Amino acid sequence: MTSPATSATGAPDLPDYAPVPAIAKGAALNEHGYHVWQVERNLYAVTDNVYMSAFLTTPDGVVIFDAPPNIGHNIRRAVDEITAANGLTNQVTHMVYSHHHCDHQGASSLFGGDIVRIGHEETRRLLLRDDDPARPVPDVTFADSYTLEVGGERVELAWHGPNHSPDNIYIHFPDHDTLMFIDVVNAGWIPIYNLNLSDDVIGYTGAPAIALDYPWTHLISGHLGRVATREDVAMHQQYIADIEASSREALASVNPGPLFGHYGENVWAGVSAYLDAVTEHAAAPIIAKYTGVLGGADIGIYTRTTTFAIMQSIRLDRGPSGPVHP
Ligand SMILES: [Zn+2]
Repeated sequence: MTSPATSATGAPDLPDYAPVPAIAKGAALNEHGYHVWQVERNLYAVTDNVYMSAFLTTPDGVVIFDAPPNIGHNIRRAVDEITAANGLTNQVTHMVYSHHHCDHQGASSLFGGDIVRIGHEETRRLLLRDDDPARPVPDVTFADSYTLEVGGERVELAWHGPNHSPDNIYIHFPDHDTLMFIDVVNAGWIPIYNLNLSDDVIGYTGAPAIALDYPWTHLISGHLGRVATREDVAMHQQYIADIEASSREALASVNPGPLFGHYGENVWAGVSAYLDAVTEHAAAPIIAKYTGVLGGADIGIYTRTTTFAIMQSIRLDRGPSGPVHP
């Protein structure tokens, strides 16, 4: 075993990256490490520049939308800060789950058992499976759509098929010009590994068009330091479309014959050589195009793993997977 490389200062020898582009800059955090702001009227967002949550203040109580443990107790601090400033109750009465993932709901139990939790029926099934006391299962579930009415406010929840996860829903605030839709589009940044760690490639790549079908100006997308615009969604769609086009070009142009021939009976080595060559050929121009344009674009493994997932979906879901033997 060799020890990891270290720099002259003794710190791990980590790679350097280009400066974060202006479009990807986060918010100025307070002494507790959060920033809370008014999205529209009585709808607020709170961020630690990595995760984002939202809440609605009403005369009858507060509705929280997602409780990421990364923000944790700062959700309560943000609610207290805003309700005190506006002379409203800070009592949390409802919580809406966007999807079941622990990194967005793992602080749910901080708000106790005496609130109404609402989520998709698949969220309930998955949370029963995961059996995590930090994420109490929703009491109110729905299959296709649900209208939440609290304190004179209206929120429309809808499920339009699997995307990032099987249960990820669209949360529309028709009277706040806002959509909340988590873990698909990142404002000013590319997706992390494998299309933001998503289960369903075709569902994920089709979801931004569904999001754009709703009327909204503000998109709360679950991560990073600012609310997304429709232009952010269009940039994300272009990044994905570029990867799809580049993957098709690479599949058509990389010749597997010599690679399989080189490895002979070790056919799995041939498969790896071929798919790695296609991935590299497809991803390289995307990394070059988006470096300095979107945050994280020069962290090559993000685009390479997303490209690999899209390229596999082109082969396996849409076909053809390869030439038919004569
Ligand atoms: Zn997720």
